[in-house]
Order: sequence, then C-alpha cells, then structure tokens
Amino acid sequence: MTSLFPELEFYENPRDRRAAFARARKALFGQKRNLLLYLVCLIAFAAIVGAGVGLLGVWVKSEFGFESSWWRHLAVGMMCGIYALAANLFFRRPIRRKLREQLKAAGIVVCLECGYNLSGNLSGRCPECGKGVAKT
Ligand SMILES: [Zn+2]
Repeated sequence: MTSLFPELEFYENPRDRRAAFARARKALFGQKRNLLLYLVCLIAFAAIVGAGVGLLGVWVKSEFGFESSWWRHLAVGMMCGIYALAANLFFRRPIRRKLREQLKAAGIVVCLECGYNLSGNLSGRCPECGKGVAKT
C-alpha cells in the first residue's frame, strides 16, 4: 500500500492510513462525475477484454485449428494487467494528490506535484520536481 501511495508513510499507524485513504477515495469518487467515469471505464474495459479474448479464440482456431483454454487464461490475465495499468494512470494519481492535500491541511508540507517532503524547505521550490511551492 505504501509503495503505491508513498504519502501514507506520513501516517504513523495503519488505522490513520486507512482513514486517510478512505477520505481521499471519498473526495475523489464522492463526486458523481468521477464515479460515473470510473464505472464507464470498468464496463468499457470489460467489453474490450471480452471482445479481445473472443477474437483471439477465433483467430487461433482458424490459424492453428485447435481450441485450447490455457491461452484464454493468459489473454485474460494480460488484459487485466492492462486494465490495472490504466486504472493506475487514471485513479492512482488523483488519489495521491488528494492524500497530499490532506497532509497539507494537517500541517505536513509536501510537494503537491510529487509528494516530496518539504518540511524545512525555505527556497519555495521543490528540490525533487522543481515545481514552485505555495507558501503556507
Ligand atoms: Zn515536487
């Protein structure tokens, strides 16, 4: 969890981490538009996975003349991987940003762009990504 969301390392105990994550998720998916977007993506990807596996089956049968099932599982696994990657791009970034906003609200100064710990930073610029830091 903390490797996917390094912002959670700022929280001392697992309960606080879970609470912070739940708040971030709620802040994101609590908005109807985002929840709808998520559901549309999920359905679209399920359709793509289904169509992809189906087409692959037709192709293998016409090309090699056999029906097998192991590659079906492989294909489903690969497409789940693709979905995980897409979900990461679409949803992990905004959740991390919400987590950073929470940290900032709690008085822990982190870079909103990359999550770098900026406590004691006086330059007004993140040393990690070079983004300007709003003075608090
Ligand atoms: Zn930064």
